[in-house]
Amino acid sequence: MNRIIKFLTSFVPLEKWHNKQKDELNSKITEKNFYAEKACIICGSTDLIKKSAFFVPFLTKRMFNGKKKKNQLYTCKNCGFSYSSYRPTDEEMAQYYQNYRGTEYQRQREETEPSYTKEFNYMLGYNKVEEENRKKNLYNLLIKNMSNISALKNILDYGGDEGQFIPDELSFAKRFVYEVSGVKPLEGIYNISEEDLYTQHWDLIMCCHVLEHMPNPMDTINILKNLMHKNTYIYIELPYEDYFEEEKYKLTLAEIIKRPKSTLKKLLKKEKFNYVPIHEHINFFREKTLMNVFNDKQYQILDIGTKEISYAYGATKIIYCLVQKV
Ligand SMILES: [Zn+2]
Repeated sequence: MNRIIKFLTSFVPLEKWHNKQKDELNSKITEKNFYAEKACIICGSTDLIKKSAFFVPFLTKRMFNGKKKKNQLYTCKNCGFSYSSYRPTDEEMAQYYQNYRGTEYQRQREETEPSYTKEFNYMLGYNKVEEENRKKNLYNLLIKNMSNISALKNILDYGGDEGQFIPDELSFAKRFVYEVSGVKPLEGIYNISEEDLYTQHWDLIMCCHVLEHMPNPMDTINILKNLMHKNTYIYIELPYEDYFEEEKYKLTLAEIIKRPKSTLKKLLKKEKFNYVPIHEHINFFREKTLMNVFNDKQYQILDIGTKEISYAYGATKIIYCLVQKV
């Protein structure tokens, strides 16, 4: 309970949270600003490191209709989690993710990011090499950590798109995706509604590349925990991103001022350079973060780590964990 209270109080101003429904009625005239500036939205610690940050122009345009948002990047010293201080509202999320990576999204994005071509957009959505490697990685992890993989009768991929990341070797099980976008799942995989999620006994729940986008990741994690029974496994996979840890984002303004030969012009240029760009990922998890999330006698962490996943002409780093409720 303490953690939930801390989580709620990390939003400023709090009364807007309580008045959410009222605000929704007035959404055209009221701007809802949710800032998480006081406490880590995962563990509630107030031991935070602050860096200047900004949302990239494409996101500002698509999510906020071009209105610039004040933003910071916080890193929690206790659980290693980093996050954007501005937490998008439900409406802003809906506006941004509507027809995600569709024609209009791609066109808008190419305007400010010329390298985001149609071909690149298609490759991101349908990279078969990466898909196969991610599936293989997960299957190997399950084999390594489970004594009897054939006991998995019911599998849920939460936010799992078409279900394309469920390993093919698990086709003997009933496979479901919970997906709000309305895409049709692949053959042999079924959609499940929010209400029906609770009517099933899940043996394995997957949640891959979802939590990095969510304004309230602990809400989603708590939903997933509530769907677990004794012995249910959960597999969480996220991108492992550390670009904001680069040296150039480390200097504070005070440190720059102290440098010799800092003319005002140079100083401003450098200061701007030190702003961390935030794209659509607003949450950055570390192993310590996930260990904190499952730091409870009810859960046993079976495997946790980072890994490079190849996508033919490069590799992307992921963070993963496999946990069982005991
Ligand atoms: Zn934390």
